[in-house]
Amino acid sequence: MDKNDIIELTITDMGVDGEGIGRYEGMAFFVKDALIGDRIRARIVKLKKNYGYARLEELIEPSPDRVEPRCPLHRRCGGCQIQALSYEKQLLYKQEKVRGHLIRIGGFSEAEIDAALLPIVGMDEPFRYRNKAQFPLGYDSSGNLVTGFFAARTHSIIPVEDCMLGVEVNRQVLAVVRRWMEKYYIPVYNEKDGSGLVRHVLIRYGFATDEIMVCLIVSGSDIPQKQDLIRQLCEIRGMTSISVNINRERTNVILGKETHCIWGTPYITDYIHLRDPQDFTVTQQAIAYHISPQSFYQVNSLQTEKLYSTALEYAQLTGKECVWDLYCGIGTISLFLAQKAKQVYGVEVVPQAIEDARQNALRNGIANAEFFVGKAEEVLPEFYAGSFGDEAMRHPDVIVVDPPRKGCDEACLSTMLAMRPERIVYVSCDPATLARDLRVLADGGYRIEKVRAFDQFAQTVHVEVVVLLSKGDIQSKKIRVDFSLEDMEVF
Ligand code: SAH
Repeated sequence: MDKNDIIELTITDMGVDGEGIGRYEGMAFFVKDALIGDRIRARIVKLKKNYGYARLEELIEPSPDRVEPRCPLHRRCGGCQIQALSYEKQLLYKQEKVRGHLIRIGGFSEAEIDAALLPIVGMDEPFRYRNKAQFPLGYDSSGNLVTGFFAARTHSIIPVEDCMLGVEVNRQVLAVVRRWMEKYYIPVYNEKDGSGLVRHVLIRYGFATDEIMVCLIVSGSDIPQKQDLIRQLCEIRGMTSISVNINRERTNVILGKETHCIWGTPYITDYIHLRDPQDFTVTQQAIAYHISPQSFYQVNSLQTEKLYSTALEYAQLTGKECVWDLYCGIGTISLFLAQKAKQVYGVEVVPQAIEDARQNALRNGIANAEFFVGKAEEVLPEFYAGSFGDEAMRHPDVIVVDPPRKGCDEACLSTMLAMRPERIVYVSCDPATLARDLRVLADGGYRIEKVRAFDQFAQTVHVEVVVLLSKGDIQSKKIRVDFSLEDMEVF
C-alpha cells in the first residue's frame, strides 16, 4: 500500500470532524466528505503506522443518508462539514458524539449516561439560522471584486453570493458594498503587503426585531464616499446601524479596537425569549440586548432560546437562590437566571463584555445581577478564600458555567467543588472538554442528572450540550483538589 494508491472503501463510521472512516486491509482511513454508508473509491494521501488519510475520488454507491447539499460550494468552503448528510442523521451523529465522549473520555458507564441523556433538540428549518456573518473581500483570477469565504485552511477566497446558513439580506448588503467599491475604485485590503482598504464586511441581524447592522472593517482611518454607501444601505429594510471598524494590524483577527458609528445607532437590539422547557413554545418573557459589532452573542438565536430556557430549568430556581454564572459574556444567561433567583454573580474575562452585561441588566430593570471582570479560575477562588464575599457567595445554591471550547480550568473546578452548590449547570460547546471536566466534578461527589444536546450549528459538526449535576453523597467520594487555599474546607 502506497501513497496515491486508489482503494475501495465502505464507510462505517464518522470521526469527530465529520470525516468518513473506512477500513482497508485492517487499517482505518479517514476520508473528508465521505459519509457513513458510502461505498467509495479514494486516493491515499497520507499513510501512518495504523491509519491513513484518503481523498474521495468517486462515489461508487452513495449512502442512503446522502442528500443533495443546498450549497453548491459546500465541499470547497468546508464550513458545513456534514451538509450532505440528512438532517435526521446529523442529529443522530451529534447525539452519539456526545454519548461516546462522555463514556470514552469521561469514563462514565453506559448505564449512567443513558439514564441521563435526553434526545437532542434539533431545528425545524436547519438553514439560514445565523445572526452574524463576516465576509472577507478579494479579487478573483480575472481581477473582479468578490466577497465570500476563505477556503478551508487557506486564505484564498471562494466567491459566495449567498451562504445558506446566513440570512437572505446578507446578499443585498454585499451587493451594495461591491457596487460602491467598484464605482469609486475602492481597493480591497491586501494581507500580503498591507495595502488597500476594505478587509471584511460584518453583518448582524436581530431575529426578533429584524434590525440589521453593517460594519465595514478597514485598514484606514475612514472610508471615501461615505454618504453614497449609507444612502444605498439605508434602502435595505431594517437597516439600523452602520459603522466602520479600523484594523491596521497585520493579523487574522477580524475586528480592530476602534469602531465609529457612521449612521444610526452603534448597536442593534435583539430579544431572547424564555421558552417553555417542555415543548419550547415561546412565552411572553424576554430580555432585550444591545449588540455592538464587537459583542459576543450566540449565533443561532432560535436555538439559544431553547438552550437558555433549559439551563434555567435545570437551575431549579425559586427566588431564594444565590447563583454564580461563570464565563458570562454579555450576561445573557445571567439575566435569564436573575429573573428567578435572589442574586446572580457573573464572571467574564473581557472587560467590554462586562460593561455590556451591566448595561443590559440596567436596560431590563434587573437589579440583582452583579458582574466581575476576571478569569473564573482567579475570581472564584478569591471570593472563596478572601474576605470580600458573604456566606451566600462562598456557598451558592447553583453554579452555572459556559466556558469556551477549552473547558474549565482545574482551579475553577476545584473551587466549585469546595463551594458545594446544590446544583451545577454546565453549558458546553465542546463535548470532549465537557467529558473531562464532568469526570473531575463526578470524582468530587457530583452526580450527572441530565444531559441534553442542542443543535446550535446545523450542517456543521459542532454541538452544544447542557448538563445538570447535583450534589450527591459527598462524604463517600474522593475530592480532588489540586491547589491549596488557606481557607479550603475539609469535608
Ligand atoms: N455565557 C455567555 C458567553 C459564553 S462564551 C453566552 O452564552 O453568551 C464563553 C465566554 O467565556 C466568552 O465570553 C469568553 O470571553 C469568556 N472566557 C474565556 N475564558 C475565560 C476565563 N478564563 N474566565 C472567564 N471568562 C472567560
